Amino acid sequence: MNTFGACHAQTQMSRRLQTPAGTLLKRLSLEARINVCASHSGWRVDCIDQGLPNIVTGDLIVPRPDHASNCSSDNPERAALIGSRTLRRHVRVLIAACTVLLSTQVTSADLLIEDAIILTLAEGVDEPFTGHLVIRDGRIKSVGAGKISATERAGLQSLKVVDAAGKIVIPGFVSGHNHLWQSAFRGIASDGELYPWLEALHWTYGDYFGDGDLYAFTLHGALDQLGHGITTTYSHSQRLGATEVQYLESLDASLAAGQHFVFAYNADLNQLAAAVRADVDALVSRADKADNPLLLGLSLNSVGNHAADPTMFAVEMELAGEHRMTVQIHYLEQASRRFVERLKWPEFLEVGAVAPHVSYAHFIHTTDQIVADTGHLGGAMIWNPLSNGRLASGLADIPGYLEAGIRVGMGVDGAASADIADPFENMRMGLYGLRMKYSNAGVMQPIDMLRLHTLRTAEVLEVEKEVGSIEPGKRADLLIVDPRFPLTGSVTDPAATLVFACSSANIEQVYVGGELRATRGVPAGHDISALQLDVEQRVARIKAAVLLAQDAKSR
Ligand SMILES: [Zn+2]
Repeated sequence: MNTFGACHAQTQMSRRLQTPAGTLLKRLSLEARINVCASHSGWRVDCIDQGLPNIVTGDLIVPRPDHASNCSSDNPERAALIGSRTLRRHVRVLIAACTVLLSTQVTSADLLIEDAIILTLAEGVDEPFTGHLVIRDGRIKSVGAGKISATERAGLQSLKVVDAAGKIVIPGFVSGHNHLWQSAFRGIASDGELYPWLEALHWTYGDYFGDGDLYAFTLHGALDQLGHGITTTYSHSQRLGATEVQYLESLDASLAAGQHFVFAYNADLNQLAAAVRADVDALVSRADKADNPLLLGLSLNSVGNHAADPTMFAVEMELAGEHRMTVQIHYLEQASRRFVERLKWPEFLEVGAVAPHVSYAHFIHTTDQIVADTGHLGGAMIWNPLSNGRLASGLADIPGYLEAGIRVGMGVDGAASADIADPFENMRMGLYGLRMKYSNAGVMQPIDMLRLHTLRTAEVLEVEKEVGSIEPGKRADLLIVDPRFPLTGSVTDPAATLVFACSSANIEQVYVGGELRATRGVPAGHDISALQLDVEQRVARIKAAVLLAQDAKSR
C-alpha cells in the first residue's frame, strides 16, 4: 500500500467504487480499494475477502492493457495469496468488476465507425445512408454520410476505428416493460394465461426468495437483455416475498449490469400509504447517492388500485408528482378480467392516473371511452407482443391507439412470459399480428416498428433526450448488426431486412454509452458461466423449499 499511497488518483478512484463495480464487489462480500498508480502504469487492487478466514488481506496488481508487467513493489506474500483457488476465483470476478469500473470511468479514445449503413431513427429521418459516426466520452459526437472529412479526422483523440462495411448500425433497443428477475424462470406454466401463470410463478416461488436471489436473477435478466441488443430497459421491479433489503437488490443488480435503465419501484401492497411514502423517499435518496449514469430515472410500478389501503393509489400519484417520476401500471392484460378491470377506470381518472407521465403495460382490452380518455389526456401504453402471445392475452389495437393520440412504446416483458428477450422477434410478432388482424400489409411498416422499439419507447419513459436514436449529443447506445451472419441474403431495404430477416443472433456488437458491452450475444465484464450456475443453484433451492412446504402441508 505504501508505494501507491502518494498517488494523486487514489482518492478519486476509491470514491468511484460507489459505481456498478463497487456494488458488485459488495455483493461478493469483498471489500476493495482500487488505486491508480500513474508512475507504475498499473491499477492496484487491495482486496479483503471476509469469507476466507485464513486470508486477511491481499494486494493484486492488475496490469493496464498498455503495460504488460506488474509493478515492482509486489509483496512476496502476494503469490501465496493468489495461489489459493478460492481467492483466484474471487480475484477473477474482481478483475472483471474492475474492468467494468475502469472502462466506464476512464476517458476513452474517440471511436470512429466507418462505412456503415446507418439508420439513425431520429424523428423524421426514415432513410438509411452509408456513412460514419464518431463517439467521444460516451456520447455521439457526429454522424454523417460518406467518409469523415480529413479535417474532422485530424481532430480526433487516440482514435479507434471500426470498419462496419456491409453492416447496419441502429440505436440500441429500448424496452419499456421488463421484470428482469424472471430471466431465471423460463418455460413456466406453458399452458397458462396470466393468472394461472402468476399462480405457478409469483405465488408459488415468491415467498421462498432469500438473500441474493433477486440480485442474481435480476443481473441474469439484464445481461441477457444486453446480449439481445437492449441497451435501455424499464426495470419494472417486483418485490415478491422479499424483505425491503432483499427487494432493493434488484436495483443494485441493475447498477452492476452495464445497461441503461429506469428503475420502477414496487410499493408493498401490505403497507399503509404513509409507509410507502417513507420508502419512496428513501429510494430517491439512495438513487441520488448512487449517482450512477446508467440509472436514467426513477419510476413507480403502481399497484395502488389493488392495495388494501384505499388511499394508496392517490398517494402513489402524489409521490410521482413530488419526485417528478413516471408511473407504469399493469392494466387490461387478461381477457377474462376485462370487465372488472374496466370498472376501475373512473378511479384512474379521479387520482390523476391518466396523464402524459403514466403508461399502461399491455392495455389490450380497452373500451372506446378508455381509448378516447387516454388519447385526450396524453397517456401512453407499452406493447409487449411476445408476452401477449405467450399468455394468450390478445392483440392490442396499436393503429387505433395511435389514431386516438395514445403514445405507444414496446417492451419484451419478463423472460418468463416472453421467454427470449429478442426485440427482433418482438417486432416481427407484433407486426405480423397486426397484419393478420387487419388483412392489410399497409397497416404498419418495418421502419415504424424499429422506431417504436427505440425512440418512441424512450419518449414514453421520458428518456428520449439521452437515448433512443443516433443523434449528436445523445449517449452512444448502438448496435452493429451483421446481416451476413447468420445469412439473410442481400440487403435491399435495411429496415425490412432488420425486422423481417434478422434476429438478435445478427448483432455483432452492443455499445452502451460508447462502451462495448456485448459481442455476439456475450456480455462483457461478467462471468456468465458462474452467474448461470449460481442462478441454477438458487432456483433449485427455491423449488426444493416449495416441495418441502407442499409435502408438509399435505400431511
Ligand atoms: Zn408485466
